[in-house]
Amino acid sequence: MKKNREIEAAVSSIIKALGENGEREGLKDTPRRVAEALRELTEGYSVDPKSVLDVEFNETSGMVVSKDIEFFSLCEHHMLPFFGKVHIGYVPRNKVVGISKLARLVEVFSKRLQLQERMTKQVADSIDKQLSPLGVIVVVEAEHLCMKMRGAKTDSKILTSELRGLFEDFKAREEFFELLRLRSGE
Ligand SMILES: [Zn+2]
Repeated sequence: MKKNREIEAAVSSIIKALGENGEREGLKDTPRRVAEALRELTEGYSVDPKSVLDVEFNETSGMVVSKDIEFFSLCEHHMLPFFGKVHIGYVPRNKVVGISKLARLVEVFSKRLQLQERMTKQVADSIDKQLSPLGVIVVVEAEHLCMKMRGAKTDSKILTSELRGLFEDFKAREEFFELLRLRSGE
């Protein structure tokens, strides 16, 4: 893989600049391993989000909630992990998707150099565009290692949300959060 070679060379430089001996046993394969890991952690770039949601038509139209979708991402400011859970709710107009597809959509947007706020928005926009639901809400709770391991060492979780359509109405939001609470009791 030609592109991995570039990453490997860059990682070798970083190891050297940190004052380490890149030739020693524990580090000599590190550039290759880091390149492979970075490819895997950013493989969302090579997937078209439109290809992920295979829409089905359906007349029923209650609120659909998918809770606790796990994700792992890399913050674009430090290239350090941030990770946590995504909760999605939508009220179909006439199109639905399998729950696993929502998890896959989250994966496609999380496996990139990302910002939590943008990822939240991209997931909401994608569902909004492809399903044209009556409303969609996306809530992301995450821990950022760039905050936990360095600087202020804050332990707090960051919460972001995006809402469209009828979720702008307080009652719909309440129903969504009520469903999240109910399902956590299962
Ligand atoms: Zn960061």
